Amino acid sequence: MSLEDEAEALASDLGVDKQEVLEDLEKLTSYSVPLEEAKGSLRRKYGDGGSSGSEPTTKEIAGIDTDDGNVTVTARVLTVGRRSIRYQGDDQTIYEGELADASGVISYTAWEDFGLSVGDTVTVGNAGVREWEGHPELNLGQSTTLVFEDEEVTVSEEIGGDRVLDALSPGDRGRNVVVRVLDCEAKTIDGRDGETEILSGVLGDETGKLPFTDWDPHAEIEEGTSVRIENVSIREFRGVPSVNVSEFSSVLALQEDVTVSDEAPELPIGEAVESGGAYDVTLVGNVIEVRDGSGLIERCPECGRVVQNDQCRSHGAVEGEDDLRVKAILDDGTGTVTAILDHDLTEELYGGGIEAAKEHARDAMDKTVVADDIRETIVGREYRVRGQLSVDEYGANLDATSFEESDEEPSARATAALAEVDR
Ligand SMILES: [Zn+2]
Repeated sequence: MSLEDEAEALASDLGVDKQEVLEDLEKLTSYSVPLEEAKGSLRRKYGDGGSSGSEPTTKEIAGIDTDDGNVTVTARVLTVGRRSIRYQGDDQTIYEGELADASGVISYTAWEDFGLSVGDTVTVGNAGVREWEGHPELNLGQSTTLVFEDEEVTVSEEIGGDRVLDALSPGDRGRNVVVRVLDCEAKTIDGRDGETEILSGVLGDETGKLPFTDWDPHAEIEEGTSVRIENVSIREFRGVPSVNVSEFSSVLALQEDVTVSDEAPELPIGEAVESGGAYDVTLVGNVIEVRDGSGLIERCPECGRVVQNDQCRSHGAVEGEDDLRVKAILDDGTGTVTAILDHDLTEELYGGGIEAAKEHARDAMDKTVVADDIRETIVGREYRVRGQLSVDEYGANLDATSFEESDEEPSARATAALAEVDR
């Protein structure tokens, strides 16, 4: 049945105008509200208390299931983020964040301004439950009632959105950060309203560094400045969290410089891969293999992809440009990653640049001698590698910014790795 037919049937059932029902249905389904739930909510809206709409059940947050239609919960507002979405050509402001009670935490999206503030205790009546990446989330819409309670719900979670960079994860909303802008560049992109200017770069604090994008450039965000940014959301790019600054974010320039750590956190490889990615991390492990595609390679001059037999996957026959690269598999007993070394790191490791490598290959009449040379140097040794870890369908890759032989006792490392596994 088409949405129009559904609207017609429902409208005649309820004895109301079809166009109105259709518009409501379109709106709800465009917000990913399941059709049955949308119909139930319209039945309630148009006053049919009959059999098909299920009554909301009062629940503890931990007890909310993705199968629940509508629920009523009493909870503390942990965070409130504002965001603009485009719906049928119009911009609509939505509110997102987390609610908590003694049993747990749940994310919510409010399609109207209920006047929620951080720290409020509220009873949310008849909130829709939808599924988001396998977890239940609450939808607060037209049919939701909201009561501000005098008695506070006590929660163990932190109230408010202040977080250090290391504590941010993709999907977080309504967060506040105190950071130094380490790198900032203006870019022109082809946005939904034509060409727009955005800012992108890197933020840092004492716990780490993360890339950011400011979709509505704030004058306070400049390279070298220290700022407090309120109401950011976190999205993910290849497993690495990225800070989204929007028109609803407020940026306050700070007088004092925010301290930025020069260290990258060191993690067991298994744990780092499990976390989904990291912008700047140190991993220590044994090189167990140097993969094909290392040593003297050729890249497409158009897209930079590695070409084989002068063929680029995207650009066909091309004249490849010489480059140096290493793809080394690093293993610490808890997991493995492929460390990718760029031209400069490879040159250092190999002890010569592209010209030396080409001469070496000519003499041997074999290009693979360069990779073999590197393989002999590093396989079986332990290295400390710092860089950006991305985890996706291509595997776990660490784009190295430094690659140094570890000076730690291998036995100490093995003991530490085993202790990590036993933990
Ligand atoms: Zn290409």
